[in-house]
Amino acid sequence: MKTITHFIGGKMVESVSDRTSPVYNPATGEQTAATPLATVDEIDRTVSTAAKAFESWRHTSLAQRTAILFAFREIAHRNRADIAAALTAEHGKVLSDAMGEVTRGLENIEFACGAAQLLQGQFTQQASRGVDVYTVRQPLGVVAGITPFNFPAMVPLWMFPNAIAAGNTFVLKPSEKDPSVTMLLAEMIHEAGLPEGVFNVVHGDKVAVDRLLEHPTVKAISFVGSTPIARYVYETGTARGKRVQALGGAKNHMVVLPDADIDVAADAAVSAGYGSAGERCMAISVVVAVGSAADPLVEAIERRIPQVKVGPGTDPESGMGPLITREHRDRVEAYVAEAAGEGATVLVDGRDSPVRGDGFFLAPSLLDNVKPGMKCYDEEIFGPVLGVVRVDSYDEALEMINTNAWGNGTAIFTRDGGAARKFQIDVDAGMVGINVPIPVPVASFSFGGWGESLFGDTHMYGPEGIHFYTKAKVITSRWPDPASSTIDLGFPQSE
Ligand code: NAD
Repeated sequence: MKTITHFIGGKMVESVSDRTSPVYNPATGEQTAATPLATVDEIDRTVSTAAKAFESWRHTSLAQRTAILFAFREIAHRNRADIAAALTAEHGKVLSDAMGEVTRGLENIEFACGAAQLLQGQFTQQASRGVDVYTVRQPLGVVAGITPFNFPAMVPLWMFPNAIAAGNTFVLKPSEKDPSVTMLLAEMIHEAGLPEGVFNVVHGDKVAVDRLLEHPTVKAISFVGSTPIARYVYETGTARGKRVQALGGAKNHMVVLPDADIDVAADAAVSAGYGSAGERCMAISVVVAVGSAADPLVEAIERRIPQVKVGPGTDPESGMGPLITREHRDRVEAYVAEAAGEGATVLVDGRDSPVRGDGFFLAPSLLDNVKPGMKCYDEEIFGPVLGVVRVDSYDEALEMINTNAWGNGTAIFTRDGGAARKFQIDVDAGMVGINVPIPVPVASFSFGGWGESLFGDTHMYGPEGIHFYTKAKVITSRWPDPASSTIDLGFPQSE
């Protein structure tokens, strides 16, 4: 079995903890590694290593930081197949999807390479007589990232390249379920020349997270995970004076208007509902079929489901891999099992197509006549289960989305530009797709939901990411002629 170490001060460091969490190959059900669950002392040691590194890293030139990030991008890009393979081995998603995740992650390193421009301040000459005013953005210090299992490469890359580019040092606490990808990234960024201690990885669970939340040296926390933990991290971290952005779970609705191209919409629903076995925070989990779109759309989705080949992520024929753990698979199955009793129509039951072997597989399920108030609508399933809600009108569809507690992503499928434009203005969600089912913004924009999908004020990565990892300073300067200098007790006024 593989041993997972921490990565502290530029080195692999074996944990002294006697607690571990199992890592599986979800396609075989076999345990392949044990993730160490850090002690409070290990977190403290990591934070002080990062604090020490901050003293010099904050003073490195932007040119030097950019050169390191650029080299990191090149190394990660060259080795992207290895990163994807490590990802598939522990997460289970199919290799092509893993490769897509790595590519979307690399975008964020590319964005961070623009640090010189991103950190540019403003300057006003002669704001008052003989007075110039300018701004600078400075790093916060040691910042921490806590990440979920479902994007073990991309979500950490949403955080640390921007944080480091801005002059912070970083402590990453990745998901204990698939830790190996972050170790590869740590090795690569050090191969690129990053000084020791600027980027550290420490594995753990609630004990580690709680210590990061209370540690006075940690200035900011970026969190991505489920809503209850996001809320907890936000409330605990901000109560201790930290800057926190905490992204939570989701229930993403895809509205299909009667004028939409039904084949395009059905392809999108199947791709976005069952891709990565539904374990994406931007997965479509609810299709809202408006009026006459419903019957042909449901029929078109059902017809496509047999095309989704479920199997190991390493098999190029597979379109959908297993779920992350046996417990999670059983939890998802329970939603399907209960759906009929709640009044939904189970058109396709994933449990009827067992995949051979001991992997944590579950084939796609399709539920029709789903309604708010049913568990399969109200709760985040995070699996390959697509629910169809039938409504009579656009207004009813909008009302349903806007009263839902989450507000991560949403999409509308239509050929009516006016309807799409109205939707984009009216809908309460942070990211909107127009004929795009998974509208994850490119790295030069920022990612974040509304409602219970995000706690905090700033979205993640892109310009808001840079904003989150820096604090502003305004400098007012004057170079007076000593000959004309006098005492003036009045409040300074512009002249
Ligand atoms: P999770 O909340 O269980 O875990 C996320 C992180 O929190 C992990 O590092 C974990 O070790 C830690 N953690 C778990 N329990 C904790 C506790 N009691 N106290 C402190 N820390 C704890 O989430 P997950 O199962 O790894 O990931 C899936 C969830 O993440 C889904 O809800 C999904 O929607 C969400 N997600 C959201 C986004 C987004 O951008 N909004 C992106 C990806 C995933």
